[in-house]
Amino acid sequence: MMESRMTRNCHVRFGERYEETHQSQDWKVRFVPTPLSPLLANVALHGLETMLNEYAVTIDYRNCYGRQESQKNKIKSLNFIRYADDFLVLHRDSTVVHRCRDLISEWLNGMGLQLKPSKTRITHTLNPELSEDGLAGFDFLGHHIQQFPVGKHNCAIEPQNKKPLGFRTLITPSKDACKNHQLELKRVVRKHKYSHQARLINELNPIIRGWTNYYQFSDAQSVGELTRQDHLLFEKLRAWGRHKCKGKLKKAYEKYWTKIGNNNWVFATRQENANPLRLLTHTEFGSSSTKYVKVKGEDSPFNGKLVYWSTRMGRNPDMPSRKASLLKRQKGVCPWCCLHFREGDILEEDHVLARALGGKDRYDNLQLLHGHCHDAKTALDLSYIRENSLKKHLKQINKELDKFNWFWKDDILCIQGKSRGREFH
Ligand SMILES: [Zn+2]
Repeated sequence: MMESRMTRNCHVRFGERYEETHQSQDWKVRFVPTPLSPLLANVALHGLETMLNEYAVTIDYRNCYGRQESQKNKIKSLNFIRYADDFLVLHRDSTVVHRCRDLISEWLNGMGLQLKPSKTRITHTLNPELSEDGLAGFDFLGHHIQQFPVGKHNCAIEPQNKKPLGFRTLITPSKDACKNHQLELKRVVRKHKYSHQARLINELNPIIRGWTNYYQFSDAQSVGELTRQDHLLFEKLRAWGRHKCKGKLKKAYEKYWTKIGNNNWVFATRQENANPLRLLTHTEFGSSSTKYVKVKGEDSPFNGKLVYWSTRMGRNPDMPSRKASLLKRQKGVCPWCCLHFREGDILEEDHVLARALGGKDRYDNLQLLHGHCHDAKTALDLSYIRENSLKKHLKQINKELDKFNWFWKDDILCIQGKSRGREFH
């Protein structure tokens, strides 16, 4: 994730939510989220990054030899990450971060906005003593990001001086997010106190799938958060089952839990001769913070890079959905020439086993090829088809000939048969 630069920097966060300060007769207009507020925040805070970049050029930032860093490196050293009205400023030097807070305050004041002090924190990601409130790490978009000291064999190596960093960055679901998820699950289990098991499973599954997908690029699995979520949900379901069976827990286990594969404890419906409806678990989705590939530079899905975005997301408004999902499946590589597709290439769908040879028009029989690779593949397919049809004809002729008694005479095929009692050649 953002680890490479982040691991070396101090992390600071402020301005999680800002409040409008229009005051009329002691009434404070509070910030109320509306569907438009992220859009308004985007409009209002556009330009904040440019302002910070202009400041970054002027900071006193020296390399290991005591010389001033280049302008490019200075801009690189100051990270600004924003999602709607929530933002982070990251730098290894705390004085720079304090100065940024003042600058942003001034900049917002010019627009009649204010940083909310209760939501603004200056913190260190590794050392709690350096943080304003004595807590290391910070929360951003439902994730908690913090560094922990580890031995030299468990951490990354700093690229410049080839020394071990001495700490590891963990990105986990934040405490609030975990709690809210459990509250949501609790609400659903309570709602279905008297319902059938299938209805409960049907409502729980999308919640579990959605939550784990959101945290798929975090370390939730390696810190055991997914297992914990499964366990907490199990406790809720156990209480639900006990209630349904009038306090008889053993009966509830027998009725609502079953063995599927190697797992003895699957919360699933019992239906004879049908697929049981199964509750998803958090752990089966898995997650890893190293799986995420950072979006390059200032790319956005709307800047026309069709192949890049279709490969990344498996969908794009300007790309047919079949092509986009094939691109994602093939990771942007043409299986014929093993080269990456580039912007502007001709992309053609192809049946792996040709339709004429009995291939089906299904996703598992489709692939995406370059235009010229598709031509080469079709030529090869056609030769197979020809061979195949020739074989078919020969087989038929042989079958017909087997009905007669035939032999070769002077390279001429002769059929010996009997007709009206007389032999003929
Ligand atoms: Zn190709």
